[in-house]
Amino acid sequence: MYESTRGNLCGQTAAQAITLGMVPSGGLFVPSTFPDLNWQDLQGLTYRDVAKGVMSPYLTDFSEEAISDIVKVYADGTSDGEDPAPLVSVGNCGVLELWHGPTAAFKDMALQVLPDLMKVSLKQFNREEDVIILVATSGDTGKAALEGFKNRKGMHIVAFYPEGGVSPVQERQMTTTEGDNTHVVAVKGNFDQCQTAVKQIFASDSIKNQLQEKQLIFSSANSINWGRLLPQIVYYYWAYLQAVTQGKVPPEGKINVVVPTGNFGNLQAAYYAKRMGLPLNRIICASNTNNVLADFFATGVYQSQRDFFQTISPSMDILVSSNFERFLYEMSGRDAEKIQSWYDSSNQGTFTVDPATLKACQDTVFAGWASEEETFETIARSYQTYQYVFDPHTAVAMKVYKDYLSSTNDQTFTVIASTASPFKFSSNVIRGLEGDQPESTRDEWEALNRLNELSGWKIPLGLQGLDKKQEKIVNSCLPEGMAELIKKMFV
Ligand SMILES: *Cc1c(COP(=O)(O)O)cnc(C)c1O
Repeated sequence: MYESTRGNLCGQTAAQAITLGMVPSGGLFVPSTFPDLNWQDLQGLTYRDVAKGVMSPYLTDFSEEAISDIVKVYADGTSDGEDPAPLVSVGNCGVLELWHGPTAAFKDMALQVLPDLMKVSLKQFNREEDVIILVATSGDTGKAALEGFKNRKGMHIVAFYPEGGVSPVQERQMTTTEGDNTHVVAVKGNFDQCQTAVKQIFASDSIKNQLQEKQLIFSSANSINWGRLLPQIVYYYWAYLQAVTQGKVPPEGKINVVVPTGNFGNLQAAYYAKRMGLPLNRIICASNTNNVLADFFATGVYQSQRDFFQTISPSMDILVSSNFERFLYEMSGRDAEKIQSWYDSSNQGTFTVDPATLKACQDTVFAGWASEEETFETIARSYQTYQYVFDPHTAVAMKVYKDYLSSTNDQTFTVIASTASPFKFSSNVIRGLEGDQPESTRDEWEALNRLNELSGWKIPLGLQGLDKKQEKIVNSCLPEGMAELIKKMFV
């Protein structure tokens, strides 16, 4: 069963939590209890079967057959080159490449299964309505969700992205999505404004009532939806199993994981894996210049009212980190009253946690951040040293891992969650590799080919020929116009 982080709803099934996306009166769905899952029980299984093993205990209202069908979307992970999430050795670390899906970002790991999770969830209640999926995206969720939901019967999807706040490849990926149930909106604002406006639309009874008359309901494909987090727990088990197979961990040994973080969904999934019994030692939270989380872990003050920076790791340009609420729920000993008071709108995104909660946070997570310069440097140095090309997000993670190493000297085998293919951010990766002057810019499509030449890596299928594909009509609006636009489109 699932309950709300704010104590305003409990006893909901997985199907209800996934259909609703978030708690209508505010708050996020979290599992009431955590199942124990021994990694040894998953040894030798394919990715699909590991996914089934991890997800089933959380989907007790789904039939076994339905779950088997849902996980079929993953490559079976046995034959060569087909591993959905290979663990690659880079220096002393393992890099967990989570970007082998259709859109070359780790969001695919969850968004390939979310449409089916939602379909089964809706069927569970005999819901006849069509669903409108609203997504706010800092770049990667948008495309992965558009791709996952395109041409799905009874489902429409609208992706809102900050105009000028995503990479040219990310933008082109979204605007070239096929399917007449897919819509793209460029918002004149930043990601936080997009995300806040989407949450307000979810909370507005007036829009919901108007849609209901048209037999339409809303849901979310952002990581506020439990259906996004659940499939992400799977690959932490998968990483551990590979590390064992590769002889990187002694039996019963623990590993660390480093997670380049924005909305805290990926990190929260790692934390859930740990709660299920996966032997994780430290979870390391890596931020870019938007270092609101690193500051929090140092001080206990969450201060989202601050300057916002556009960085070369745009998918982490987030100040209001949604899933952090789920983390604080656990760290405070599931104290819904505290969560209510911290997230009260009168605080305007700034609050201070009590010392016991802060200590629990610090014991679980090490947090750090990387500047733009350090990120470029890490891309260049890693290529020189290991001939491995990091995308800017994963480079942030690598830099923070180095800081962790020098401050703790912890020699535990460490897995870096690699969240995007470097080709998605080619011009900045090339800038890092070739040591361009800061003010220089590169043509994105030339950079894509240059990166291919330089690294010898193949350009991911989903990024080939993007510059020549037909673009769809992109709506544009201010954050405060998003609700009106939705009405215009569907009412
Ligand atoms: C979304 C994203 C992140 C941040 O993940 P969260 O789950 O939001 O913390 C990091 N890197 C890339 C490439 C992403 O697309």
